Amino acid sequence: MCDCVFCRIIQKKSPAHIVKETKNMIAILDIAPIHEGHVIILPKLHADSIHQIPMEVITEVMETAQQLAKTIKKQ
Ligand SMILES: [Zn+2]
Repeated sequence: MCDCVFCRIIQKKSPAHIVKETKNMIAILDIAPIHEGHVIILPKLHADSIHQIPMEVITEVMETAQQLAKTIKKQ
């Protein structure tokens, strides 16, 4: 794993407000939100391109985005 800001959050070396976490991804509140409920969903695998992320991880990230969007919309 590299030492980028997102990997540091995943490794719990940098603070973040975690909304949801699984073995493949983590969802955190953005520190500079452009809208209420602005969440960042990160695959736990550091990659330079989406093509390096396994499809099952991309699917999990997208399903999480949909679930969180529904939750935020209800509030
Ligand atoms: Zn990284």
